[in-house]
Amino acid sequence: MHEATLAENILNIAIAAAQENHAAKVYKVGLTLGELAGVEVEALTMSFDVLKKDTSAQDAQLVIKRVPCRAACNKCGKLFELERYNFFCPECDGILILQTGRELLVDYVDCE
Ligand SMILES: [Zn+2]
Repeated sequence: MHEATLAENILNIAIAAAQENHAAKVYKVGLTLGELAGVEVEALTMSFDVLKKDTSAQDAQLVIKRVPCRAACNKCGKLFELERYNFFCPECDGILILQTGRELLVDYVDCE
């Protein structure tokens, strides 16, 4: 995942939202980020802070909500919270289907 590209996309969404609402400034950008989305939060925040200069989002703060990774077994149906991606159920060796953890969404844009 290229955090700089991602930061640019998020910034564009925020600026577009401000324009749509005829707002002069963006205050906050809410982001939902799965643990397995493969994004370095620090790198993302740093890129965002560099790119936002001289835009309507220059004072905007990234508010990031992390979503843990959950998977369900296709055999026994048990739900597991995963630390890292695991393909097989620890209880019955069924196949785990990822339910959450790969999210990468802009939830909201708070502007003036
Ligand atoms: Zn199972």
